[in-house]
Amino acid sequence: MSRFSLNGTRALVTGANTGIGQAIAVDLAAAGAHVLAVGRSSMDDTLAQIAQAGGSADAIKADLSTVKAAQDMFAEAEAAHGPIETLVNNAGIIRRADSVEFSEEDWDAVMDINLKVVFFLSQAFAKARLAAGGGGSVINIASLLSFQGGIRVPSYTASKSGVAGLTQTLSNEWSAQGITVNAVAPGYVISNNTTDLRNDPDRNQAILDRIPMGRWADPADIAGAVTYLASPAARYVTGITLPVDGGWLGR
Ligand code: NAP
Repeated sequence: MSRFSLNGTRALVTGANTGIGQAIAVDLAAAGAHVLAVGRSSMDDTLAQIAQAGGSADAIKADLSTVKAAQDMFAEAEAAHGPIETLVNNAGIIRRADSVEFSEEDWDAVMDINLKVVFFLSQAFAKARLAAGGGGSVINIASLLSFQGGIRVPSYTASKSGVAGLTQTLSNEWSAQGITVNAVAPGYVISNNTTDLRNDPDRNQAILDRIPMGRWADPADIAGAVTYLASPAARYVTGITLPVDGGWLGR
């Protein structure tokens, strides 16, 4: 099991209060990482789940809608808790509207959190890792819309396609120093992000009909792939966007 163990490492997870980020935080902690659970909402539920799993964690309060806030958060996190070996860029938002009506505000809000802050947080992480002699892993949360167009989500698709490209760029630049950079692309997951889709009976059925496994994912279904990519077992895996989608892309 030691090749899959994260004992003695620290992992920072953004958007860890709920949904996929919460499941990732719990899974990383169960694998032995000390988790820094970052977000703008209460982390009490996440910390309780981690304690129940026998893991350890600290909560860090931060709104990640601007680059400066994200950079300040990262500097304070390292100053308070020590070096961070794993960064999981999970926090993200979605805005739905017909592309012909789509607003600049909805474009910028999504691109800022889902792509711009992901880049600058990764940059802050890499600067710290390189100063420490290299090593570590960045895991970005991408989407099926890193591969497909989707409907009525132009800024979301642009941001998540950008995440897949950025994952390759950063891997090309940093992997020689032992920093792996990968992404996980979840399929359709039960979380706040998909409430509208699941509440629309026609869309819900159309989605279910296309998933070979025949069900929506639970956030915990996504977390194992992230923990694997953070572990020594994945040390030669870099630059990929790994779908975890119940078979959706194969259909
Ligand atoms: P979610 O429950 O809505 O979680 C989104 C997370 O991002 C929450 O923790 C949220 O915090 C945080 N966040 C948003 N804006 C933030 C900000 N300005 N500052 C700090 N935190 C912020 O949805 P989810 O499905 O778990 O989404 C997690 C990631 O998976 C996202 O990147 C999403 O695009 C991606 N994803 C989801 C699916 C899916 O089917 N659900 C599929 C593919 C990819 P609050 O709770 O405080 O808002």
